[in-house]
Amino acid sequence: MPLVIVQPARNPEARRNYARTVDNPVSLAATADYLIAEDQQELTRLHPAGTVPLWGTTAGERGQLKTRWERMGSGDTILFTGAGEVFKVARVTHTFRSPDLANTLWEPKITANGHSASWEYMYAFNQPMDLAIPYTRIQEALGDLPFPTREFSVLSTAQSERILAYLQESAQEPPLPPTPASSRQMTWTSEEFDRAYLAKRRTEQAYLRQFLLTGGSGQCALCARSFSKEFLIAAHIKKRSLCDDEEKADIPAVAMLACKFGCDELFERGMIVVAPDGHITKTKKLSDLEAGQYFTEHLSGRSVSNWHQRIDSHKYFIAHREHWR
Ligand SMILES: [Zn+2]
Repeated sequence: MPLVIVQPARNPEARRNYARTVDNPVSLAATADYLIAEDQQELTRLHPAGTVPLWGTTAGERGQLKTRWERMGSGDTILFTGAGEVFKVARVTHTFRSPDLANTLWEPKITANGHSASWEYMYAFNQPMDLAIPYTRIQEALGDLPFPTREFSVLSTAQSERILAYLQESAQEPPLPPTPASSRQMTWTSEEFDRAYLAKRRTEQAYLRQFLLTGGSGQCALCARSFSKEFLIAAHIKKRSLCDDEEKADIPAVAMLACKFGCDELFERGMIVVAPDGHITKTKKLSDLEAGQYFTEHLSGRSVSNWHQRIDSHKYFIAHREHWR
């Protein structure tokens, strides 16, 4: 069972460290001298781009942080917290101990009793996604269980389950109304809605990619091929600019996963549409020879995946078809 890790990171020292090794991921060429071969190989395998976001904790005054760190493992979810909110989320890829590497990356911590402690209990993770979830919402999700935010914590299975369930659910919620700028202004302007929606949409992409795609991969709704998550995007079925506010918020019905290897592009340009029975058909706009070849190879004769379960989306496929007819 993957656990949830709470990592406060908004005091001045943490902000400095965060900028140093998360905003600017660490080059694996720079870690090689400090790590045992096994850890270096594992990081290289898991982070083929050659850079890796890193974080570490000290042992803690009574060794309590080290004991917590020992419960962490790859696949756990880290919530970076501070100033009353969860502001980033990431997945742990590897944990390892290295005082030497920690000391080259970050100034050691000077503890309350004047000792110097390195951030040697380290962990690597994938690039974090932006979030803005107030502690109060997490606490609601936790119910009677506590949400510790004062220091590095590895939550219990029960706490973790509730938070992960909440994160998955909230990916499907419509955006929250923005706070009115003044008391006179009680309804949203379209611009405000768009801003709120865009923030939400980025978050949704993050959720889709991080939490909804099991095992880091998913299926294109059009060609039905499986891809790792970086090749899939949450595409609008009905052209977003033609959606009214209610439709824009109709997530997930108004969206689908489409691959970057052609399906999203052809659909977006109206070169393919979806017939009333769910079949993918080409339009007159599809005149390019290579694109035509792609259609023949990957889409001809296919229906939208799970068409019969996607009833809420049918009206959006109709709108898309009528727009491009
Ligand atoms: Zn596809």
